[in-house]
Amino acid sequence: MDVKLLRLGDQGPVVAEIRTTLTHLGFLPATPRQGGERTETDTGPATTAASTTTDAPRTGTSPASVRRTDAALPASPSGSLSAGQQIPAFPVSSQSDHFDHTLDRALRAFQQSRGLSVDGILGPDTTRALEEARHNLGDRLLYHSAAHPFVGDDVAALQERLSNMGFDVGRTDGIFGPRTESAVRDFQRNRGLDADGRCGPHTLDELARLRRTVTGGRPDVLRESVRLLARGSSLLGVVIALDPGHGGDDTGIVCSGLCERDLMADLADRLSTRLIDSGLESVLIHAPDESLTEQERAIRANSLEADLLISLHTDGSDSPQAQGISAYYYGTTRGSSAVGERFAQLVQREIVSRTNMLDCRTHPKAWDLLRRTRMPAVRLDLGYLTNEHDAQALGSTQFRAAVAESVLAATQRLFLPPELDAPTGQLHVPRVAGRA
Ligand SMILES: [Zn+2]
Repeated sequence: MDVKLLRLGDQGPVVAEIRTTLTHLGFLPATPRQGGERTETDTGPATTAASTTTDAPRTGTSPASVRRTDAALPASPSGSLSAGQQIPAFPVSSQSDHFDHTLDRALRAFQQSRGLSVDGILGPDTTRALEEARHNLGDRLLYHSAAHPFVGDDVAALQERLSNMGFDVGRTDGIFGPRTESAVRDFQRNRGLDADGRCGPHTLDELARLRRTVTGGRPDVLRESVRLLARGSSLLGVVIALDPGHGGDDTGIVCSGLCERDLMADLADRLSTRLIDSGLESVLIHAPDESLTEQERAIRANSLEADLLISLHTDGSDSPQAQGISAYYYGTTRGSSAVGERFAQLVQREIVSRTNMLDCRTHPKAWDLLRRTRMPAVRLDLGYLTNEHDAQALGSTQFRAAVAESVLAATQRLFLPPELDAPTGQLHVPRVAGRA
């Protein structure tokens, strides 16, 4: 690609090439726009360029309407147009090699997304960035070549993924150097692949597979996920600590003839049985006649060196309308337990899919039990005893059996690799556990 400076008003084959690249990257619409009458104005690149770093120029104008002809906008500073502003109609430029206002805005949006100077000028930096952006991870085999190193967004994406999983790539600079090669080898060894340091289809598959195990793509989540996967496809030896939320003189909530302490003791027993049947170790952290503080519960779970703590409660409210189930994991504004959060989401999803309880979602909390436990810990509030609907559910053994099954399925999803995963609400535990 030519590195001669090009800008608004210029013309030439390089301009057409840039147009193609920006279209491919989503900074320009894929289909050429038609000129003519406007029925609405969209928020084109001019407004999105200033506010976002992604490929926002694809806007949601319906295909049936005739869109504003960006190609024929009057000369105005990029970013000065606002949605709804009337723009005089001009004939559309049909020349793709003409550096028009549409291209100018798209190029500025691209520059902004890459952290380049947003000047609308096609200089060396922007040209190089465009060249590198053409490569998507998976488009080509990547390996270390001292003479002609691979450079591009695909390399940067690879580095980012490896780095997020804790592999040392050095800087995420988009250049496949020796350090990236050694990180690829580490990853391959870690995942039982041929450690050739080349990023080909098998390595890409494995990267994609690991990616599916987490939500949100947060580095801490990915790292913990790798640790969990290192256990392999077996649940054997996984210790689940169960905490019936109340005991002894502490009855918890008592309402309409139902007692939280007794209901949760029953649930803990059911759950414990199911976990053990499935090859896990399950331990109740206190006897039914024991009433412990949250801190004491945490100390017990820690001394058991459990892999996961599940605390079982029901909820209560002055309002009989309050209903639904919630799951809580450790978290503050400074950070949260990544695995705790994931497990809370898994449990919540399973229970909601298997029962008719209202989904009150998952929430980070800094409660003592969650804060002082060293393993991922989740507290489940399994419905309101003060609500007629929830109380009826909680009073039925069928419901408590369904909750036990849900928690078991969520535990499996947490510890088993994703290729053994089944749709939510359908996991049949003994069959999978038998593969260990
Ligand atoms: Zn309780």
